[in-house]
Amino acid sequence: IRFHDVSFRYGEDGPWVLDGINLEIPAGSSLGVVGGTGSGKSTLLDVFMGLLTPQKGSVTVDGEALTGKRCRAWQGALAHVPQHVYLADTTIAGNIAFGIGKEQIDVERVAAAARQARLDEFIRSRAGGYDAYVGERGVRLSGGQRQRLGIARALYRSARVLVLDEATSALDAVTESEVIDAIEAADRSTTVVIVAHRVATIRYCDMIVELSD
Ligand code: ATP
Ligand code: MG
Repeated sequence: IRFHDVSFRYGEDGPWVLDGINLEIPAGSSLGVVGGTGSGKSTLLDVFMGLLTPQKGSVTVDGEALTGKRCRAWQGALAHVPQHVYLADTTIAGNIAFGIGKEQIDVERVAAAARQARLDEFIRSRAGGYDAYVGERGVRLSGGQRQRLGIARALYRSARVLVLDEATSALDAVTESEVIDAIEAADRSTTVVIVAHRVATIRYCDMIVELSD
């Protein structure tokens, strides 16, 4: 995916959040994005995912502009773990195999994704395991468990492109590096884009971009 002189702002007279960004992210590589709060990291990801269209410059995937059908196909190849993971009012398994009918859920794959996200042990220690309900009357998840559930959800999809927006910020350093290692080891052909506050999180990325001002 390529960014060609990409500039983006919210609204017609707002400040430029992204200003003349040029980036080339080869398929199968990993990109780490760092920068202070409000520097435009999430905005950069939204442009990368084709959710926001830059006012200046363009984004291309395999040389094709990220519009219309091409954009929808691109989005179908993505798995995104947002800063705040949404939990559905269903079971743990249903939350990992998100948006998939109960009968179609592949339980083996659910468990494999949970293991990769270092959540399997916790789930199995709860009454009901993968069939336990999430929420007020069911299993309560901590911030870090919620994040790992979001990662397991993304891994279940086995998408070609994985986008993590501070998806491990609530984990302790050891668990975080286990999760990142598991993601990296899972499939070298996956393209990974990771936003992180801690540089340690992205030290193994092929490329690091720092946003400022
Ligand atoms: P954080 O580390 O806090 O998540 P970030 O680097 O992800 O920050 P962005 O969310 O990309 O930063 O925001 C970049 C700038 O754009 C900020 O100044 C923010 O106020 C502004 N911004 C973000 N979303 C909107 C929006 N929907 N409308 C207007 N301005 C926005
Ligand atoms: Mg952000």
